[in-house]
Amino acid sequence: MINGYFIFVLATVLGFFLLDVVSRIVNLGSLKPELPAAFADVFDESAYAKSQDYTRDRTRFGLLDDTASLVLLLAFWWLGGFGWLDEIVRGHTENQIIAGLLFIGVLFLGSRLISLPFDLYGTFVIEERYGFNKTTLGTFVMDKVKGLSLSVVIGVPILALILHLFDQFGSSAWLYGWIAVAAFSLVMMYLAPTYIMPLFNKFEPLEEGELKTAIREMSEKCQFPLTEVYEIDGSKRSTKANAFFTGLGKHKKIALYDTLIKNNGVGELVAVLAHEIGHFKKKHIYQSMVLSILQMGVLFFLLGLFLNNQGLFDAFGVEDVSVYGSLVFFMFLFEPISKLLSILMMILSRKNEYEADAYAAEVTGRPEDLISGLKKLSKDNLANLTPHPFFVFLNYSHPPMLKRIAALEALK
Ligand SMILES: [Zn+2]
Repeated sequence: MINGYFIFVLATVLGFFLLDVVSRIVNLGSLKPELPAAFADVFDESAYAKSQDYTRDRTRFGLLDDTASLVLLLAFWWLGGFGWLDEIVRGHTENQIIAGLLFIGVLFLGSRLISLPFDLYGTFVIEERYGFNKTTLGTFVMDKVKGLSLSVVIGVPILALILHLFDQFGSSAWLYGWIAVAAFSLVMMYLAPTYIMPLFNKFEPLEEGELKTAIREMSEKCQFPLTEVYEIDGSKRSTKANAFFTGLGKHKKIALYDTLIKNNGVGELVAVLAHEIGHFKKKHIYQSMVLSILQMGVLFFLLGLFLNNQGLFDAFGVEDVSVYGSLVFFMFLFEPISKLLSILMMILSRKNEYEADAYAAEVTGRPEDLISGLKKLSKDNLANLTPHPFFVFLNYSHPPMLKRIAALEALK
């Protein structure tokens, strides 16, 4: 039924799709034929051309993926898919929590199934074409199986709890729901590096040697309580390189991809590690944790306001109101706020990246090491060297490499 909610959600869905299309198109337009001078020592003409082809291929494929998702969503919605699914679910059980788990579970599985061919094509055709892909079909399947099992083991109990709380306490359950999910995600953040990430990758303590000694010296200099640095087998899936910091308290881990170690010298790797320690020292990790918990609070509070709202159910063609339906349909209403928050988080994240870079430059006293590491990373990952500012504004958690390098040059 066409009502205010219907129009609002439709306008949101179409508006964000359009924004995405426009940002991708201007991003393609911003590919420059001349190699930026700062990269002349790492990229040659053919590598630069390849990086641009990669950006073009990924952009076109992204557009196709987004269009397909949009068309399928609109078709499902307008053909009465939500109402149809709700009736089937209600026909099977009177229990609202079980009905909710089924309703959300089917929608979740459906969307995963739709994205499967795109995942396959992205990994085995596009990434393969540029020599990045190292994922075997076996690893791909196992990743999906493990991911799905984790969603069931972790997602089902927490979803059941949320459904139960709103069923029991109505709108005022938002506070309990928020506390429960916040506590749960803190526990997950604490435990994931030890119990979940190893399901997907092997974490090996870094071998004794020049690199480890240099890293140890550096972390002492930073007064960083480094217990262990891990090498992870990123090469199991891709030749792309990376490094990250994760976890809390004694479960925190710094991990360097084996692909990064292979292509960089000790100076560069120590600089990358100093950057990661910079995130910790500058309290970026706690900052993003607090912000994501606050964001959850806003989400739960607003969800409480729209609980069992008949107009919202009418817009999605569902007759009977329910907590689980409220949860799903509210997510569509929340989309503009969620997009806005994600843009704000990315502005903050880009600022934090500059801070971590500056920290690394200061503590190592060698900005040139990080510059050289970032340049190699750009080349190895075929990064887009000239992304459009509007695309960066909407999508980049890290500043474009050229800007990071310019900021580091200024510190020399
Ligand atoms: Zn960083």
